[in-house]
Amino acid sequence: MEKSKSSIVDFEKLRNIADGSKKILVKMPDGLYSLSTEISDFLSSMGIETIISANPCYGACDFCDGIDGMGIDKIIYVGEAEMPYLRKKYPVETSFLEIHSKFDASKAVKKAIPLLEGGKIGVVSITPYLHQIKKCIKILEEHGFAAVVGKKSRRTAYDGQILGCDLTAGTSIAGSIDSFLYVGDGFFHPLGLSLSSKKPVVIADPSQDRAMKDEIREMKEKVMKKRYALISNSMGKNRVGIIIGEKLGQKRVELAHEMKKLAEGKGMSAYLISSNNLSPDRLDYMNLDFYVSTSCPRIAMDDSASYKKPVLTPIEFEILVGEREWENYEFDQIL
Ligand code: SF4
Repeated sequence: MEKSKSSIVDFEKLRNIADGSKKILVKMPDGLYSLSTEISDFLSSMGIETIISANPCYGACDFCDGIDGMGIDKIIYVGEAEMPYLRKKYPVETSFLEIHSKFDASKAVKKAIPLLEGGKIGVVSITPYLHQIKKCIKILEEHGFAAVVGKKSRRTAYDGQILGCDLTAGTSIAGSIDSFLYVGDGFFHPLGLSLSSKKPVVIADPSQDRAMKDEIREMKEKVMKKRYALISNSMGKNRVGIIIGEKLGQKRVELAHEMKKLAEGKGMSAYLISSNNLSPDRLDYMNLDFYVSTSCPRIAMDDSASYKKPVLTPIEFEILVGEREWENYEFDQIL
């Protein structure tokens, strides 16, 4: 099979991880579906039957149900790095084919230099750009900065790697640095880092060759106002749905039970709701006043505008019922 010379897929790695399998399910997030047939063709050329999963997929935390009886002997997850603590929990043998961005981070990092505060910089990134972290550190050092990279956690595969739900590589070093450099695209990760570390965060976005700092500060202020309003809107309400995420790496059943107990202890009626893929179609029509999501933190933080009723994080619920002060607000993480 002729493969595209410009492809961002590491076909050598794909060959190694697929070798010996007979039937593979390929799973990927929305942004990478354009690679799906290319990958399927390559696996077919190795004599492997391939099924492309069209289920929504949000991260390495997210695994397919419903593969029983299909004879699949391996799942290849395309895009993200492995979530190490789940290794023993995957339903069948699972491998990860990371996709590295084709955008060079150098320009964006150089643009970020004047925005950095202090001399000690914590460097964090996400899977598509982690392979460039050494290069970014070199640029910082050439400009007289000392770079610090935090250690990986049980949910991350690399030092310096952060997830939307696990900012350990940043928060663990926040006390010893002056500001953060986030190398990556999107706002959710740097926003979470800013909320959880209280340190200035500068974004170097290689996909746009741009650097930003004020935008994150402004966004943080906006988000905090919005979260405060959602908590206020839930005050005096009595019927709460506690959401449990069914996806392997989003499941916090114990926390959900704690939240239910807390709600009932405050005289509320609490209902446990489980979902593999939450949708406003269902939540908006339940006879409930508001929700507490113990699933992926993005549901409450990122998707809240899609829901007619407030969706709070567990920490926000603690604030609502008076178990925590607003001043002690924390960004929800799955650690
Ligand atoms: S739980 Fe949410 S933020 Fe964490 S890896 Fe999964 S999709 Fe991303």
